[in-house]
Amino acid sequence: MVKGELLASRIPRMRASEIRELLKLLDQPDIISFAGGIPDPALFPAQAYRDAMAAALADDISGVALQYSLSDGYGPLRDWLAGEMAKIGISCGRENILITSGSQQALDYLGKLLLSPGDTALVGWPTYLGALGAFNAYEPRYDRLQPGENRPVADVAAAAEAAGGRVKFAYLSADFANPTGRTVDRAGREQVLDLAEALDIAVIEDAAYQALRYDGEAIPPILALELARRGDIEACRTIYCGSFSKTLAPGLRMGWVCAAQEVISRLVLLKQAADLHSPTINQIATHIVARDHFDSHVPKIREVYRRRRDLMLAALAREMPEGVEWVRPEGGMFVWLTLPEGMDGAMLLVQSLGSERVAFVPGHAFYADGSGRNSIRLSFTLHDKAMMDEGIARLGRLLRNSRPA
Ligand code: PMP
Repeated sequence: MVKGELLASRIPRMRASEIRELLKLLDQPDIISFAGGIPDPALFPAQAYRDAMAAALADDISGVALQYSLSDGYGPLRDWLAGEMAKIGISCGRENILITSGSQQALDYLGKLLLSPGDTALVGWPTYLGALGAFNAYEPRYDRLQPGENRPVADVAAAAEAAGGRVKFAYLSADFANPTGRTVDRAGREQVLDLAEALDIAVIEDAAYQALRYDGEAIPPILALELARRGDIEACRTIYCGSFSKTLAPGLRMGWVCAAQEVISRLVLLKQAADLHSPTINQIATHIVARDHFDSHVPKIREVYRRRRDLMLAALAREMPEGVEWVRPEGGMFVWLTLPEGMDGAMLLVQSLGSERVAFVPGHAFYADGSGRNSIRLSFTLHDKAMMDEGIARLGRLLRNSRPA
């Protein structure tokens, strides 16, 4: 047995989330769940992967697919990604792309690259729970990033210094964030860049949901806006993290980082040390599927999720009691509900187990300081009309029958 005193100082910050434990209890067939932020497996391009895996294992290439490979990733996939990045205003070459095992791994590496214990990371309030999980290992302090909020830059820097470090980066999803579903408008993105310049910090742009826009005009990614300012990706401080998890399939764990070579080459060293490279065969299969199917597949999933988002919004409008608020997401997977002050999402979830049997994620999990108890996150990706209507009706009853603490 490894005794507590043998553990590194970072370990106490890496606790199993009480919410995951709660949600395990809710993993039963009669429960209608809006909890998991996962893609609908019926939409995976399974035949395309079957064919791609067979092609990757064909005689002429199997020696490559099953072999060790370069830490920065499979060249043809990086070239394909550079082409995709160019379509969204980010002109770059394969040397600006690192393949990672999901964008989650990129978040871990970026925490490792940038954070010393006591440094400050600026994150949304709320923000992606998995980003907090990844960064926590590097023992940062968190401060609030709120695009549009006019907090004096000197105050942010001074608070970081007082805590014994400095501000290192701002982390955000500008499109359809997890958990809020919110999008940062162009002016907000420019403000994040201004703040990053004023503080001389990096920007980590988490673009996991960017391709899942259901309506409204696309807004250029933060990296594209910075590139427009500077003219050269090598002069940019924004580090873009992309993922195939929401567009193709998460099981192969394929993501990428796009950034200045200076950043990529350091991340390559971290990847070498951590896992040498992401699975070669997954990279080859992903390249084949992306090249041959991405452009036809993504519009299909957008269509399904757009319909489910609209079903959820219509059901919420019918079923939610007075005082419950939400913002219509233009894409992604989530609707974020703000409940009347004094209500507690975690307590509601416990009550739900013994009554309505509907699952969701309590909002406080997404706050670095554990606040935000009067909020919950709903995912709309998995259910069609009958289940959606029934599930949201259950949620409405649960909320009507609960009293603020
Ligand atoms: N960022 C955000 C905002 C996410 O919601 C997720 C997955 N839930 C990830 C990153 C990680 O995704 P993956 O590692 O599968 O690319």
